[in-house]
Amino acid sequence: MSGEGGSAAETAASVGGAQFASDNNAGICLEAWRALERANVGHAPAYGADDWTVAAGAAIERVFETACDVFFVFNGTAANSLALAAMCRNTDAIVCHAHAHINVDECGAPEFMSGGAKLLTIDLPDAKLTPAAVVAAAVTPHDEHSSRPRALALTQATEMGTVYSPDEIAALCDVAHARNMKVQMDGARFANAVVTLRCSPADITWRAGVDVLSLGGTKNGLPAGEAIVFFDRELAFEFARRRKQAGQLASKMRFLAAPWLGVLEDGAWLVHAAHANAMAERLARALASLPQARLLAPVQANGVFVDLPSHAIESLRARGWHFYSFIGDTGVRLMCAWDTPAEAVDRFIADLREALGGASARSGR
Ligand SMILES: *Cc1c(COP(=O)(O)O)cnc(C)c1O
Repeated sequence: MSGEGGSAAETAASVGGAQFASDNNAGICLEAWRALERANVGHAPAYGADDWTVAAGAAIERVFETACDVFFVFNGTAANSLALAAMCRNTDAIVCHAHAHINVDECGAPEFMSGGAKLLTIDLPDAKLTPAAVVAAAVTPHDEHSSRPRALALTQATEMGTVYSPDEIAALCDVAHARNMKVQMDGARFANAVVTLRCSPADITWRAGVDVLSLGGTKNGLPAGEAIVFFDRELAFEFARRRKQAGQLASKMRFLAAPWLGVLEDGAWLVHAAHANAMAERLARALASLPQARLLAPVQANGVFVDLPSHAIESLRARGWHFYSFIGDTGVRLMCAWDTPAEAVDRFIADLREALGGASARSGR
């Protein structure tokens, strides 16, 4: 576009720099930005003893319609692994999906933070667990030689862009609790699931039996930060020390907390998630009209997983589009964000149509 030694991003056919690589490639939403500015006044107590941190915790309690213990951390890996470490001893095990972020994208942080808890993975379609699979996995086949299943980790929305219904979560929590296991939910894209399900945040967390939630902010327009929400408050015992030990206690905590206030107060967090979901739906609808594109999972949040011919993938990348190959060489992930313009979706689809059409013309079809 600029023509002056532009990077791939600058020469992209994208709109305003919008891409489909990840929702964490997006910037900061206005509500979060303004809240940061409002918090940027003079001195305030450090380490979370400031008004913004207290207010953000209270806002989360209001959104979830219950008293809970809230801890802000810098990222999702810390939120997940520290929450799981609060549930598990070193000799325990965590049941999760094979595609779970904690299994494939956290470099062993849950195992490390818990001092040795083992992940027991289940590989089922659409990145979703079932009660029967959890029952089968939550065993100690070799007595003292096996780790004891102590936690069930769910992701909502899942790593494949699907969601669990409130009933599905309740059924999973029931089997876990019946086996003396606690339930942790990775909510990096929790807002997207709430929007899809049109439910109260409480309906897919504590009311269904979830004990601790890692509530994602970064991917939904915050500059940085996730909130660990303990519905089972006994699990928060000594958690402040655990967070500090892990290097996740922000000294200028107000700047981690204030953006939460900004997006929670007037429901902006759900407006942004709804937009991201709508863009994914727009992508999915267009893809459904292309016979060479095959959706790999139902589109229920802000991610689209689709199998495309490899020449089309190459052509899209050559035009400057960014996205990840997710499943094999031809399964790609297209993530929509709170700020994805509809024109970017349309431009992407137009480029894809051209790539597909061009190839079939060349091959004489
Ligand atoms: C992005 C993401 C996280 C958070 O990852 P960090 O990079 O550590 O912030 C956690 N879980 C899921 C499913 C994610 O997609």
